[in-house]
Amino acid sequence: FRKMQPSASELVDGILAGNITALSRAITLVESTNNNHLAKANEVINACLPHASKSIRIGITGVPGVGKSTFIEAFGKFLTSLGKKVAVLAVDPSSTISHGSILGDKTRMEELVKDKNAYIRPSASGETLGGVARKTRETITLCEACGFDTIIIETVGVGQSETAVHSMVDFFLLLKISGAGDELQGIKRGIMEMADAIVINKADGDNIRKAHFAKMEFNRALHLFPAKKSGWIPKTSTCSSITHEGIPLVWETIESFLGLTKTNNSFFEKRKEQNQYWMFETINEQLKLNFYNQIEIQDLLEPTKKAVQSDEISPFAAAQKLLNVYQSCKINSEDS
Ligand code: GDP
Repeated sequence: FRKMQPSASELVDGILAGNITALSRAITLVESTNNNHLAKANEVINACLPHASKSIRIGITGVPGVGKSTFIEAFGKFLTSLGKKVAVLAVDPSSTISHGSILGDKTRMEELVKDKNAYIRPSASGETLGGVARKTRETITLCEACGFDTIIIETVGVGQSETAVHSMVDFFLLLKISGAGDELQGIKRGIMEMADAIVINKADGDNIRKAHFAKMEFNRALHLFPAKKSGWIPKTSTCSSITHEGIPLVWETIESFLGLTKTNNSFFEKRKEQNQYWMFETINEQLKLNFYNQIEIQDLLEPTKKAVQSDEISPFAAAQKLLNVYQSCKINSEDS
């Protein structure tokens, strides 16, 4: 891979042979916003697809400071000690602003980054969450084809990114810490509902008792949610990413989840549903981008917005007008 631009089939051969340089290059291609790269990226992904999907995809979320990086470092090392190959990816739409992600930051996972059975890739950057998430979804395929059997996807517990990550993983883990008293305060109902496990981190030193109390609180709260389609009952546990106490139990929980959902087939059903979801997501995302990128629409958007604000035109009529303009631009560009 000394050559500047390896062909799609060279990249695919490299990925299937477990070559990390080829993998990184292919991911860069997938993340590229250059339209000329799109066809090549799709070619690589399609060729990788038959070799992918033999993995477990684990989503990890939690507010900043809860210990995600420290946990992933400890958990990732534990997994590689079991002989697993671990890829750590991240979904962080804010990385556009901060120029490079704070999540999946290599310097925060010093041990894991040195591990030859681990691969850490920071979040793609992009203008929209949908775009960032789609690229991560495609990166999963590439990592799996490269031989990674355990994919960890980290996301920060703010905004909509959890929903996107939930739609690309088999198992969703919510990381928490014990607070002062009311553990459930400030936690979004939707996130708890998505969780397959809630792990209370930092259960060490003076914190152990509080962490166990928090665990009970969460356990009680989880029972109030409707049962999951898969039949899985979400689990709560405590761990310390510093002492590593409770880390093996997290993996045991995931293994029993796999046992259940692969036996009753819900594991595979969910993946099929997720594939469908991503197809429609990509269509929606692309249509929206095309619409807003159309030069005629860009010219008309501001004046139309003002006209709506001053009640000159109804919001529905305004939208219809813009959509009609877009439609005729499309027809004209086909004619020419
Ligand atoms: P993130 O923002 O969620 O990725 O959190 P970090 O992994 O950066 O951790 C935030 C802080 O919590 C750091 O100072 C860590 O050393 C500390 N921390 C993480 N896990 C534990 C733990 O299990 N026990 C203790 N005592 N501190 C921890």
